[in-house]
Amino acid sequence: MRWSEAFISTLKEAPEQAESASHKLMLRSGLIRMLISGVYSYLPLGFKVLRNIENIIRDEMDNSGAQELLLPGLQPVDLWLRSGRDDLMGQTMIRFEDRRGRKICLGPTHEEVITEVVRNQVRSYKQLPFILYQIQTKYRDEIRPRFGVIRSCEFIMKDAYSFDIDKEGLDKNYKKMFEAYKNIFSRCGLSFLTTEADSGVMGGDESNEFMIPAESGEDRVVHCPNCDFTKIKGENLLHCPNCKKKLEEKTVIEVGHIFKLGTKYSESLGASFAAGNGELKPIVMGCYGIGVSRLIAAIIEQNHDQSGIIWPKEVSPYDLLISPLNVSNIEVKEAAEKLYNGLSLKFKVLLDDRDERPGAKLKDADLIGIPLRVIIGEKNLKEKKVELSRRGQDVELIDADKIIEIIKAKA
Ligand SMILES: [Zn+2]
Repeated sequence: MRWSEAFISTLKEAPEQAESASHKLMLRSGLIRMLISGVYSYLPLGFKVLRNIENIIRDEMDNSGAQELLLPGLQPVDLWLRSGRDDLMGQTMIRFEDRRGRKICLGPTHEEVITEVVRNQVRSYKQLPFILYQIQTKYRDEIRPRFGVIRSCEFIMKDAYSFDIDKEGLDKNYKKMFEAYKNIFSRCGLSFLTTEADSGVMGGDESNEFMIPAESGEDRVVHCPNCDFTKIKGENLLHCPNCKKKLEEKTVIEVGHIFKLGTKYSESLGASFAAGNGELKPIVMGCYGIGVSRLIAAIIEQNHDQSGIIWPKEVSPYDLLISPLNVSNIEVKEAAEKLYNGLSLKFKVLLDDRDERPGAKLKDADLIGIPLRVIIGEKNLKEKKVELSRRGQDVELIDADKIIEIIKAKA
């Protein structure tokens, strides 16, 4: 992609309403724009990152044996009355009546719908177990939307649901999801903590949260640096129960939450199967969520410096940025074009072909955070050299005619 043709708009200053580092950088680098409070558009650069994260999630979920589907965003309120969660959701759930007089809500989550779908398909133990997942938009009328995509009213989630004949099956699938989650967050370039957590509004009896330590996190945990014991900060726990070390307090962003639901939804909504002896039993369920759009903010919180974002390799919107400093110099321009053509077949390359001051181009490059960068300047090129750097690291001078081979080895 040529920057001169790309829909990228960077800002020198973050708008006043932006509070957290990630929110500021997402606005400044033009990943997102606010439509109304708590509702954001993803511009092409932001959408590329979103897609990369989704693909990592798909990859790991598919590898775990889970199957992707897509459930509707429009849900009958009746389902929520039957599960007993209608009151619990209260005004957080966005509701309306359609022209037929049906009471409809915009799905804040999908336990009810998936249980209804499975209820109508599963008859026998022979059809179990399985895990289904989707990547979809959720709606919640938040009292106070904050920190950009961290707490917003419309957001993208990956939600998965496991269906088993018994508790042993659920334990096995729960472990599988736990492992998949660790892979997903590692590939996103995140260091994370896992906590014992309260299942709250979801019901059920066991759950774990995946937390990203970050300055702007809204949740607090206590953490033992020795054995990694992590717990949501509630009672005044000062020392770790495992090794008596002093606990550290950390602010965190919750990015994943997994629950053993048991038979809460299958009992209230009537999802049962015939066991081997013909006895009807409720399906044993688990649910597994990841805040996909919120992950972008979490990644930036952990991967940035004063000047901008530093994208981890797998989520970066581009692999490489080529930056000819003065495009009116014909040698510089030609060297950049040659490199761009040579690398575009194999890599996602952004060519900053804009006729701008070098200082402005380098500032924008720091801000949008493409990890690998080649800078082509007049003076270096006379000595047949170009500059190669990783975002946030030292610059190397490289022979111009060897650069393609070197990048193929590095990117
Ligand atoms: Zn410990």
